[in-house]
Amino acid sequence: MPVDFKLTPEQELVRDTVREFVDREIVPHVREWERKGEIPQSLYAKMAELGFLGAPVPQKYGGAGMDYVSFALLVEEISRGSSSVRTTISVQTSLSETTLMLFGNEEQKQKWLVPLAKGEKFGAWALTEPQAGSDAAALATTAQYDHGQWVLNGTKRFISNGSIADYVFVYAREPGSKRHEGLSCFMVPKGTKGFAVTNVETTTKLGLRASPTADLAFEDCRVPEDHLVGKRGNGWEQAMRTLNGGRLGIAAGAVGVARAALEAAMKYAKERKAFGRPIASFQLVREMIAESYMDIEAARFLTLRAAYLRDQGVDNTLEVSLAKLFGAQMAMRVTDRAIQIHGGYGFSGDFDVERYFRDARVLGLYEGTNEIQKLIIAERLLGPSRDRE
Ligand SMILES: Cc1cc2nc3c(=O)[nH]c(=O)nc-3n(C[C@H](O)[C@H](O)[C@H](O)COP(=O)(O)OP(=O)(O)OC[C@H]3O[C@@H](n4cnc5c(N)ncnc54)[C@H](O)[C@@H]3O)c2cc1C
Repeated sequence: MPVDFKLTPEQELVRDTVREFVDREIVPHVREWERKGEIPQSLYAKMAELGFLGAPVPQKYGGAGMDYVSFALLVEEISRGSSSVRTTISVQTSLSETTLMLFGNEEQKQKWLVPLAKGEKFGAWALTEPQAGSDAAALATTAQYDHGQWVLNGTKRFISNGSIADYVFVYAREPGSKRHEGLSCFMVPKGTKGFAVTNVETTTKLGLRASPTADLAFEDCRVPEDHLVGKRGNGWEQAMRTLNGGRLGIAAGAVGVARAALEAAMKYAKERKAFGRPIASFQLVREMIAESYMDIEAARFLTLRAAYLRDQGVDNTLEVSLAKLFGAQMAMRVTDRAIQIHGGYGFSGDFDVERYFRDARVLGLYEGTNEIQKLIIAERLLGPSRDRE
């Protein structure tokens, strides 16, 4: 990445357009959506019109054709407004659309990618199971080939948007296969016989309360053989490559939620008085602001570097994991300081900082926990370890 890395006018335009959209369409309503546990369809319709729901998808497949630096800036801005909305963008673009962009055939791209990119359909991406999270190779859902169809049996856990998605990309293994072998990805449309949403969590979660997190069950669920996405048995590599893309979105999301927290803390520090003067004048408060600003700038730099490398077509696995790990930890520090600066009011439900703190917590859990990112980073530095098969 060039040392004098600067955004292009087009990238600045994306950032400014999304920032203005977020201030107008998301910020005034986000508390209500989080309380209700739902984001209105009308918001997604507006985002679809602006191309946000297919941001990195080439224009010939109905997307906005953005580079990944622009995409990271878009995700940062959305996340500044709402981590729940940002989760939908991540699942739609980085996971569902990326699956089709990287591994779908031309027919699948025309049939499924185009409506996803245009925001006419919603996607979900289902890897995790009750007994297989970090250890995704332990997944037990099976897919058996039978007379031109695949028959799926098993359960998936914690699937973002699983309850509202039109297309669910499901990872399953052929019976008898073990660990990383025999895994494939299948597109299961909503309403397919044998596919059921068994639980949906919204407001009972610690954060992301407007983002539905679903459990899915597949019982003799049959899909046609052309619903196999990618090569039969290539599922492990596909899942890992897709997650690598997804983690860039999480890293950008960390920068966004942290920025929201810092902006709120600075505003409050200037308004709140103690000992006869604004608390922003106390050195210990100023230190927290400076530390948070440094944290955010460093996280954004790591994120944009990873995005830039992706735009260059360079393997960015190490850089993405660094950006996600640092971002997830940084967002906890910054949102925690924002609460500290708000004093008791930060703990109450009257200010947004408590939501930022809750929403930041998931960043170190999904799409690979902090520990998994450390294993990936160390593996790049030291070679394989016995901890990771
Ligand atoms: C809100 C939310 C949305 C989600 N959305 C999706 C989705 O859309 N699609 C999807 O497929 N999944 C989704 N997930 C699942 C998520 O990716 C998993 O929760 C995550 O991968 C961790 O798996 P686990 O919860 O089973 O934890 P576990 O794997 O059981 O981990 C428990 C703890 O053990 C640690 N640990 C595990 N293995 C090691 C090791 N080798 N070395 C060191 N420490 C280790 C972990 O880091 C963690 O601290 C979502 C989760 C949440 C909370």
